[in-house]
Amino acid sequence: MSINLKSLIPVLDAEWTGSDTDVFVDHISIDSRSLQNGSKTLFIALSGVNNDAHLYIPELIEKGVQNFVVQYIPENAKDKANFLLVKNSLNALQQFAAYYRSLFNFPIIGLTGSNGKTIVKEWLNFLLSPDYNIIRSPKSYNSQVGVPLSVIAINEKHNLGIFEAGISTINEMVKLEKIIKPGIGVLTNIGSAHDEGFENLKQKINEKLLLFKESTVIIYQKNKVVEECLDLFCIENPLKDRKLFSWSFTDSTANVFILKKENKGEITKIQYQYKNDTFNLEIPFSDSASIENAISCLLVLLYFKYDSETIQNRVQNLYPVQMRLEVKNGINNCSIIDDSYSSDFESLKIALDFLESQQKKNASKTIILSDIVQSGFSNEELYSKVAQLISDNKINRVIGIGATISSFAAKFSNCITFQNTAEFISQIESLNFSNETILIKGARSFQFEEIVSLLEEKTHETVLEINLDSISHNLNYYKSKLADRVKIMVMVKAFGYGNGGLEIAKLLEHLKVDYLGVAFADEGILLKNGGIKLPIMVLNPESTSFPSIIQYNLEPEIYSVKGLKAFLKIAQEKHLKDFPIHIKLDTGMHRLGFEENTLDELIQTLKGNATVKVKSVLSHLATSDEVKHFDFVNLQINLFDKLSSRLISELNINPIRHILNTSGISNFPDAQYNMVRLGIGLYGVSNDPAEQKYLENVGTLKSIISQVRTIPGGDSVGYGRRFMAEKETRIATIPIGYADGISRLWGNEVGYVTIKNQKAFILGSVCMDMLMVDVSNIDCKEGDSVVIFGESPTVIEMAAALKTIPYEIMTSISQRVKRVFFR
Ligand SMILES: *Cc1c(COP(=O)(O)O)cnc(C)c1O
Repeated sequence: MSINLKSLIPVLDAEWTGSDTDVFVDHISIDSRSLQNGSKTLFIALSGVNNDAHLYIPELIEKGVQNFVVQYIPENAKDKANFLLVKNSLNALQQFAAYYRSLFNFPIIGLTGSNGKTIVKEWLNFLLSPDYNIIRSPKSYNSQVGVPLSVIAINEKHNLGIFEAGISTINEMVKLEKIIKPGIGVLTNIGSAHDEGFENLKQKINEKLLLFKESTVIIYQKNKVVEECLDLFCIENPLKDRKLFSWSFTDSTANVFILKKENKGEITKIQYQYKNDTFNLEIPFSDSASIENAISCLLVLLYFKYDSETIQNRVQNLYPVQMRLEVKNGINNCSIIDDSYSSDFESLKIALDFLESQQKKNASKTIILSDIVQSGFSNEELYSKVAQLISDNKINRVIGIGATISSFAAKFSNCITFQNTAEFISQIESLNFSNETILIKGARSFQFEEIVSLLEEKTHETVLEINLDSISHNLNYYKSKLADRVKIMVMVKAFGYGNGGLEIAKLLEHLKVDYLGVAFADEGILLKNGGIKLPIMVLNPESTSFPSIIQYNLEPEIYSVKGLKAFLKIAQEKHLKDFPIHIKLDTGMHRLGFEENTLDELIQTLKGNATVKVKSVLSHLATSDEVKHFDFVNLQINLFDKLSSRLISELNINPIRHILNTSGISNFPDAQYNMVRLGIGLYGVSNDPAEQKYLENVGTLKSIISQVRTIPGGDSVGYGRRFMAEKETRIATIPIGYADGISRLWGNEVGYVTIKNQKAFILGSVCMDMLMVDVSNIDCKEGDSVVIFGESPTVIEMAAALKTIPYEIMTSISQRVKRVFFR
């Protein structure tokens, strides 16, 4: 791509401010963190309700970015770069993508549906790749932003496109259709329920069908509702020679009728009728979702006129699709980003951006990369581009695996190569992996999962998975409740409420929260050592920690005259000036803080003192979550108002004032002052069931089944024989116990875990490291995944049963449980 910026003025309906000469760009970016941003980048500053990319423009200019699409030109960026000024930059991104798409003319497959889009896309890519140079959406890039970004990656060498489109409400598909313009439409599984954004199932289907406005063929599973919607769709969007190409398990009038379906272990054999002939096909899966997805692929292959033998040969090699990038703890203090199932140029770009966002201070960056298959470029061109990309991303060492990448090793700096995965593994010891962030990215055939398993830290199988996207979502939800200019402090005490301190702090820093709050100095030091630059307030600084608070630039909460004097003494010895402190007032919580009668002394001590500066004045509510105590909350707020006003006027200062925690934000919007302190809400828990709907689950505690056995009636399970089987019972043992933070009160059939979406109640007592569950009615085996909490049961549900609060459940999960972060 090389595009004259000025040629975009009419395309985007933009106003131009900048250089008179012609400027060319070859890269579009919306991610300010990406190291791929440079002088040839066109940065499109998206502006969401809560996250405004315009804020990053001055930083980007400093890093050499020269060209921007903006909704406004930030004051401090005027005359420093080229700007295309538009009304709405998301629209501009979409208009640009639609324009760019129109420059190409080759077949495009468009996929939509409720489930299976990404898998069908990945499989079609695999099935068709021997014969085509395919461009496809990377990962699950199917949104209003993801679709344009996917399409922009098309180049001259591609001759087939596969793009997915996902929508959450009406009027969204029209925009995506304009960008993808698929000639071949595939409707994947539609789901029987309608999602929140739609009035009913029909409305949902009708909306999705809009993707196929110009499709000459529409592939779908035949059923009554879809058929009715399609009839209407074809009348409203007439197209000459449009072909409907359907399949069904039950309706013999479908173009492809599945006559038989037979399970043989992990394999499913189907027999289908097509054009009066009968064919057999083996699908290497046994679950019904995979079978439906494979049949959708079958129809595309039939439409492309592949013969049944080729279809069988290719379909038998279908594989499970890994949907996301995962971060794992590695050996010797390494972190691993596992992307071991794909290696195309576009997903490499995404993975490198993700690597940068996960990069820890003082760790070096390594990439283990296989040959890249199908890129649309010649090898010479491709590996030059890859080498450039890797050098832009400041990767410290490159490990190439495969014959092709080996032959281009000279293009990379600091690169070692191996002919194949086995050769690499035989020498893994000598490569001394330590203190590195390692991106592992390889085509499927290279079986990099073996490398991941060797480099992964060995712990037990229980993990707490943290969804970073849900954290962003929840933050934005609470931000949307704040008045203009109200700042936000996020509490990351107790390892981010058990979810992981540093990783979450890094995300929050990027999302530009204003402050972080921790309980103890040690927690703050951990964050500062990890490279966090945000100001950090320490709620409970012991006087022994004052020197390190000063050394690490943490900001103490001061809650007593004694503490203040002790801090002043040390600060004065170090000749500090204006060191930031926070004054805590006790307005009724009676935990920490200055009471009204100590205010005089506080004021006297601070008056005229230049050593410290009161950055903020705060108090904490005792019952912002309980309606019956709301009168008390109002008393607290009034007292806070009175005391803080007095401090402000007598000391003649202008500090930030803050009193609201999560439920305070929800229930007392008038008391936001200049800042709020968000805690539990960020982690996906609200005290209010109505509000809970809008939050996303963040942590999922998962384990696996260690062993399954069947015991006869009359036998008992576990310590103290507290479960007696009345009849034959099938039980599974899970390697998680009270030492991991699962309360013993959750045992004895009070609590349950979820296996294959079904509840399995805990039988007998929870042991230290294990528990046993009833799987009599669940089709499961050793090694199957188990959810201890997450979507079901939720921590809220557990807390209610255990007569405690979600906070305690979350923070009780032991540090021996590995945390895995993903987005
Ligand atoms: C923990 C804490 C918060 C956050 O409380 P949530 O109920 O989790 O939102 C706010 N302020 C102080 C002083 C805290 O200790």
